[in-house]
Amino acid sequence: MKALIFNESEILEIVDIPKPTLSSDNDVLIQVKATGICGTDLHILKKEYPAQPGIILGHESSGIVEEVGSRVKNVKPGDRVALDPTYHCGICFYCQNDRPNYCAEKHHTETGVSHNGTFVEYHVVNASFLHHLPDDLSFEEATLVEPLACVLNALRQTQIRPEFRVLIVGAGPLGLLFGLATRSMGCEVTIGEVSDYRIEQARLLFADVQNYKNNDLLSINSVRRFDLVIDTSGKSLEKLIKVVDRGGDILITGLDYSSEAKIKPSHLTDNGIRIIGSIDSNLTFAPVIKMLRHNQDFKKIITHIFPIKEYEAAFQILGLDLKTGQRGEIKGNKVVIHPNTFEINTFRTLNN
Ligand SMILES: [Zn+2]
Ligand SMILES: [Zn+2]
Repeated sequence: MKALIFNESEILEIVDIPKPTLSSDNDVLIQVKATGICGTDLHILKKEYPAQPGIILGHESSGIVEEVGSRVKNVKPGDRVALDPTYHCGICFYCQNDRPNYCAEKHHTETGVSHNGTFVEYHVVNASFLHHLPDDLSFEEATLVEPLACVLNALRQTQIRPEFRVLIVGAGPLGLLFGLATRSMGCEVTIGEVSDYRIEQARLLFADVQNYKNNDLLSINSVRRFDLVIDTSGKSLEKLIKVVDRGGDILITGLDYSSEAKIKPSHLTDNGIRIIGSIDSNLTFAPVIKMLRHNQDFKKIITHIFPIKEYEAAFQILGLDLKTGQRGEIKGNKVVIHPNTFEINTFRTLNN
């Protein structure tokens, strides 16, 4: 079967590998139907985020159960499922204190980062990390379960209320999911972005999208500051401290290891500002599957679907030339790879 491997030279390569087999009574063999390309995959390939060489990448996935181990009760062959890639052991300090997303075993268990992922035709997973998909949610839409589960986990840590004015920095998939989720809660949403493509696309979904390439984010918000600012870029903290209102929250969900910020703790004290960092999901898969069913806007962020053999074109759409390592223009939002299909190749824009 075909797999996209992060090889020993730390380059993405398509290889033929044997179909995996169940190794425990609690294992399930999944025929992977769709896996989304995440910002994390791009960071790994740009060498900005560490991953284990030799593993299969990919972690935002859905599929069909093909075979189950003898002790598996929750799923059966033929079931449609979403896969939770954030394995947690259940017995370490963090797992036992409501923080499974910081599980002590994470450094070697994270699907598609430190453990084999799902840019592949078949994948074996422990049954407790599977969630049933309703019939009216497609496999492609179901690739949004994982990123939206991270969004919901992050929002639950803020003080968000329907009357909030929310600023989101970044109109990539995560930024748009934050925008759609907060708007559905009743919030007034502003999105800031620098990529021309992403600005144009975000304007199909949101009324207030600001171009930060031409206008600094500090120059546009003279009327009223924001109650909640969300940084999906991971590098805007210093500026965001100036646009968040008194008593407001700053939520950092982007990863930029080169970014540093100088802040005055007294400003936080004087103004009651909270800075919150959040990563991964935390028991938020089940609620998010309900959100995806009930809000038809989320699926609009999927702009491209590629068969696995065209993986280079898929990454090129997201501004990464895998052959040269060079960065180019971004021309897509959420891009999905079909590990089992060789003929589908879909292009579309948001809002259709
Ligand atoms: Zn992801
Ligand atoms: Zn644990």
